[in-house]
Amino acid sequence: MTRKIMDNHSPERTCVVCREKKDKSDLFRIAKISENNYSFDEKQKMQARAIYVCKTHECIKRISKNKKYSLKIEDLLSMVNLLKKQSKDYLNILKAMKNSEHLAFGINMVMDEIEHIHFLIIAEDISEKNDKKLITKAKELNIPYAHFGNKTQLGEIFNKDEVNVIAIKNKKVARGLVD
Ligand SMILES: [Zn+2]
Repeated sequence: MTRKIMDNHSPERTCVVCREKKDKSDLFRIAKISENNYSFDEKQKMQARAIYVCKTHECIKRISKNKKYSLKIEDLLSMVNLLKKQSKDYLNILKAMKNSEHLAFGINMVMDEIEHIHFLIIAEDISEKNDKKLITKAKELNIPYAHFGNKTQLGEIFNKDEVNVIAIKNKKVARGLVD
């Protein structure tokens, strides 16, 4: 699940690829079976030490090239497929809502209305500066957020070239996306 709720109790882990600290639900767990033998732990239940990798195409691509972990091709494919399936569902929900007053998009509009926002969807390829700005604010105001899709994909929803963030202003809708 890329969807997540940030609260003060959710455990965080570090992605082995980008070293970013994230909520566990934003990461895939990869169990270390033995030296140089790693296995994707989809159910997060294997009794083994584990490493974590972001649920993003970027980090999965990078770990696939890392000889240290030499993940099986089946494992890499299942991760990519999970990602694809989720992003499609998510984007479809947003597309259905695009004309509603419940959405705000683009960093300026979102920051202007931040007090009324219940959920943030941030493009995976947003600039580091804007990412930091949004996450700092989200944590401060306890707004759940998820990194999802890229700027082009988010832009398509609104017939724009690129959109770096989408915000949900309706509590009920936000809850539906998070659960
Ligand atoms: Zn990562």
